[in-house]
Amino acid sequence: MTAPRLEIDLDKIHHNARRLVELLGRRGISVTGVTKATLGSPEIAGAMLRGGVSSLGDSRLENIEAMRRARVPSRMALIRTPMLSQATRVVAHADVSFNTELAVIGALSSAAREAGQTHGIVLMVELGDLREGIMPGDLESTVRETLRLPNLELEGIGTNLACRSGVTPDARNMAELSALADSIDATFGTVLSVVSGGNSGNLQWALGGAETGRINDLRLGESILLGRDPLDREPIEGLYTDAILLVAEVIESKRKPSHPWGELAQTAFGEMPVTEDRGTITQVLLAVGRQDIDPCGLHSPEGIEILGASSDHLIVDCGEERIPVGAEITFELNYSALVRAMTSPFVAKVAKVQKNRIPA
Ligand SMILES: *Cc1c(COP(=O)(O)O)cnc(C)c1O
Repeated sequence: MTAPRLEIDLDKIHHNARRLVELLGRRGISVTGVTKATLGSPEIAGAMLRGGVSSLGDSRLENIEAMRRARVPSRMALIRTPMLSQATRVVAHADVSFNTELAVIGALSSAAREAGQTHGIVLMVELGDLREGIMPGDLESTVRETLRLPNLELEGIGTNLACRSGVTPDARNMAELSALADSIDATFGTVLSVVSGGNSGNLQWALGGAETGRINDLRLGESILLGRDPLDREPIEGLYTDAILLVAEVIESKRKPSHPWGELAQTAFGEMPVTEDRGTITQVLLAVGRQDIDPCGLHSPEGIEILGASSDHLIVDCGEERIPVGAEITFELNYSALVRAMTSPFVAKVAKVQKNRIPA
């Protein structure tokens, strides 16, 4: 079979989505399935939808367009602040977009009016992680301006934590988001129907038994695809962590010293060489590299240790084991490695055929 490749088990992704939808459903929270790590794969989007996610979200308009072309039957949200230059395309393909800039919201309104349609708006609020978001003190005026613009429907507010700065979603910042929703409703008499509390980093908060207040939606990518909690990268109970695996092929396998010889300068990637001497090892080269994966984001099988990577090679220590050329090695991936593998044209994506499951 072609290598390198991602082996994607759609049944496991379906299971992960379903389990999270059930657990959060008990707390009055629906799930937006985030597809951005999958390059808008219609198969993966389909597995999420069968798992019960209520809509799909992606940060790239191109991915949303790909899913539209594939006729994925879902509401779709652009979850990154739209580019001003893409307003017309955003309105044409996304049902709703997450926004923080009035200039963009104005352009979306004009584009929607020209197209004779209504575009949904969720306003993102900054609650400390310092990525996207309107400062809380500016939310009311932004709502006021947004409500004045034609062909827009203000659907709700949201926030995103645990990304740029690793700020943990907790009772305090989630209560602040709830309070902001209450205050906007009190001021404008509108009902914000969506209060989107965050991403997979919100699961400990959401499932920990705390008050969920007004929060009624979470946007989940990593937890569905990789079964791990991004706050500590521990497996989430009851979810698969091996729904997506990377398989690479051995192109050289030799007994070699582990210590380089000759004068040492910077490596190809500007790092200083690692000079640990572990004696003679079985050094194996795999035909996959930094262009395709993040070498720090691969988890190797027992007895195999990743030593380094160049653009096109992954170098591993196989200890005493002799692994023949042409053999394949399978790795688990983290989010960073997954995103790169999904977007590399050199990595095949192979979805496992669906078992004949009786729908639950
Ligand atoms: C990527 C992203 C998500 C999903 O995050 P995960 O940690 O993969 O669940 C949610 N919201 C926004 C705005 C994002 O950019």
